[in-house]
Amino acid sequence: MGAGAVAASLAAFELTGCGGPTAAFRSPTRTTGRGPGGTFGAPPPSDTEACQAALGSQGEFIVDVHTHHVIPSGTWTQNAPETVNLVLSMLPSGCTDSPQLDCVDRATYLHDVFLASDTTVAMLTDVPNSGVADAPIPFPEAVKTQQITAGLTAGGAGRLLVENIIAPNVGPLAATLDEMSAAAETGAVAAFKVYTAWSPSGRGFSLEDPIVGLPTVQHAHDLGIKVFVAHKGLPLVNFDPANNHPDDMVAVSRQFPDMNFVIYHAAWDPSRVEGPYDPSAAIGIDSLLAALDRHQVPPNDNVWVDVATVWRQLLTQPDQAAHALGKLLKRVGQQRVLWGTDAIWFGSPQPQIAAMRAFQITPEFQDLYQYPALTDSVKAGIFGLNAAQLFGIDPTAVRCGLTADPLTSNIDEAAMLAHGGAIPSPWTPNGPTTRRQVLQWLASATTPWAPM
Ligand SMILES: [Zn+2]
Repeated sequence: MGAGAVAASLAAFELTGCGGPTAAFRSPTRTTGRGPGGTFGAPPPSDTEACQAALGSQGEFIVDVHTHHVIPSGTWTQNAPETVNLVLSMLPSGCTDSPQLDCVDRATYLHDVFLASDTTVAMLTDVPNSGVADAPIPFPEAVKTQQITAGLTAGGAGRLLVENIIAPNVGPLAATLDEMSAAAETGAVAAFKVYTAWSPSGRGFSLEDPIVGLPTVQHAHDLGIKVFVAHKGLPLVNFDPANNHPDDMVAVSRQFPDMNFVIYHAAWDPSRVEGPYDPSAAIGIDSLLAALDRHQVPPNDNVWVDVATVWRQLLTQPDQAAHALGKLLKRVGQQRVLWGTDAIWFGSPQPQIAAMRAFQITPEFQDLYQYPALTDSVKAGIFGLNAAQLFGIDPTAVRCGLTADPLTSNIDEAAMLAHGGAIPSPWTPNGPTTRRQVLQWLASATTPWAPM
């Protein structure tokens, strides 16, 4: 599958978004008779060249702030069966590896993110866990992935950021604070991340809680880690709905004005249809916007969001996608919306990148709801320049560092081979052959990547 096939899919999403068989997914508040809210400006699928021009790389600096892999041999596979089931529910559909967790291992990750997608820099995060015993990627393993990635680039250009996931509501708080200090000492922590709604017993916590939440944020602050991330919305297993609301994070942002707070998934909830802003909504993106209003956080302040899973799920429903992106850009701010994909759950992030390149909020929706147009410069911000500002990345320096590294120099060759059918296409889930190839390549990282 190439750019033409993606164009065909995008055209189909537009049609279903306009009504027809999936009309049930339409925003209930949308007035009929008006135009659709989101369109994919993709050329006819048969025009391969035009599709490639519209959906292929336009040289964007892409920072994916939300990516995953697992360590299939880790103790978490014994200690956290519910986490194993969660991960197994998000494998690429073509996964045939045995064990199946190999489909989302480190080698596959490096392939899917850095070889088979236009991603420039990625943040490696993790799913809910309380430490090395039950984490799919214990922090030392995340650092190892970072080191391997650096080893594959010329001069070790920084292409991978890592987060330290902490659970201050599990076990004694002092242990969490010590873990944070130890992690910070490695110099590798770009951000701390919490799941306020999670614990193995299903009980969450509030970041405003003076016993658990505030001391954790304060400790991050004192360690000099000024980016604090929380998953909000998108309910997972063992989630406590009472602590999944974004309000505590927004409130705490007022107390720590020299820190930045990133709300993963923008509080989006798949059970709520995204429509025009409704301040009374209890869940979803609107619950975040209402919290910003309540705590008088202006646009482009120290509260940020990413669109991981939000975009992947809504790109098939362009009207909802237009509302979601339009509301976030308008209220959280055009400089505060970050690119995230939740790759490599479900495979390479590349199809999501291509879809975003083609997506537009229609003039009708811009007029009706004062949403901004998705101009090239707005998209450049979403794709990576906003994250570059947040994490202090110099796009020019990173680009220069990547011009001659072994990963980058093999992207074109890999794409050509995929086009010719010699290797599986990055547009489709990767089979075991590719994973093995990448493993072999990693074992001899000095030789150029080539399929066996
Ligand atoms: Zn995630």
